[in-house]
Amino acid sequence: MSAAGPDFYSPKTLAEALEVRGRTGAIPLAGGTDLLVRRRSWAGTLPEIDEPVVFIGAVPELSGAEETETDAGRTLRVGAGVTYADLLVDSRVPELLRDSIAELAAPGLRNVATLAGNICNASPAADAVCALYALDASVELASAAGTRTVPIGEFILGPGRTTLGIDELVVAVSIPQIEGNRVFYHKVGTRRANALSKLSICAHATVVGDTVAAVAVALGAVAPTVVRVREAEELVRSAPVSGIESRIESVLDAYRPFVTPISDQRSTAEYRTEVALGLVKRFLGEYLIAPGLAKNPA
Ligand SMILES: Cc1cc2nc3c(=O)[nH]c(=O)nc-3n(C[C@H](O)[C@H](O)[C@H](O)COP(=O)(O)OP(=O)(O)OC[C@H]3O[C@@H](n4cnc5c(N)ncnc54)[C@H](O)[C@@H]3O)c2cc1C
Repeated sequence: MSAAGPDFYSPKTLAEALEVRGRTGAIPLAGGTDLLVRRRSWAGTLPEIDEPVVFIGAVPELSGAEETETDAGRTLRVGAGVTYADLLVDSRVPELLRDSIAELAAPGLRNVATLAGNICNASPAADAVCALYALDASVELASAAGTRTVPIGEFILGPGRTTLGIDELVVAVSIPQIEGNRVFYHKVGTRRANALSKLSICAHATVVGDTVAAVAVALGAVAPTVVRVREAEELVRSAPVSGIESRIESVLDAYRPFVTPISDQRSTAEYRTEVALGLVKRFLGEYLIAPGLAKNPA
């Protein structure tokens, strides 16, 4: 076992990492861009962590991304140690996820921060998580006792809450290659870098001729977890693109009960609701018809 200090473990294999996690309940540390900030009491102070910590960044089994073929089709399996910087230059990563990562934090942070950290932090405003909901991603977990795979919408329970067991680590995120020919990402923040979302939309659709063959819309920071409303998507699926406009009000009505944001230092509930529904309307009512439309109008 490799330990850099009595309470800091830097395992060199997944088996070692799972053994440490199971035996000590050590807190997983990836890029540290959430964990270390959360444990800092004030600007200029060092983070205070009394519990053991297990650094997962040196575990080779958690690095790299690979394409796999499953019954559900082609899937990209991204290891829990892979950084955003690596994902941004990987052409196999769906455009929607790359678009969300390109506006997440800033380059310095993206060199160390991970998808798995964004998921386990379980913020309703987590930008990559919003894209993962739209892409029907699943989370692969492991403990010394075995592995399990959970859809992302079942893994995240609420702000800061997940089903991660005390002896488990996230080992990978599996992303089905289902993205269609309409990809729409829009983040509303106070500035372009290092700004958490006031709200966001991650959406994609497949338009064949005049028909919406598939559609998925996820909304971030408008409820305790990212919002996907399957009934609303059903109202659009198989519909003619030319007839979408007549369905928009019913679609927005289907979203309303689920768009229940809070007011906080970043925005008000009213603003978040109005802009989120406006972006759904923009995606379905305008972008599906005219994909050349600017996604981020000034
Ligand atoms: C200045 C700044 C700007 C930011 N901007 C954004 C932004 O625009 N959008 C956004 O969404 N986020 C933003 N963040 C938050 C953060 O960068 C992301 O959430 C990032 O993805 C966290 O990844 P990490 O690897 O650094 O996680 P860490 O901080 O290492 O871990 C986060 C949590 O996940 C757990 N964890 C990590 N890996 C695993 C694993 N493999 N298994 C089990 N648990 C694990 C940790 O124990 C911890 O609880 C910002 C942060 C900062 C400091």
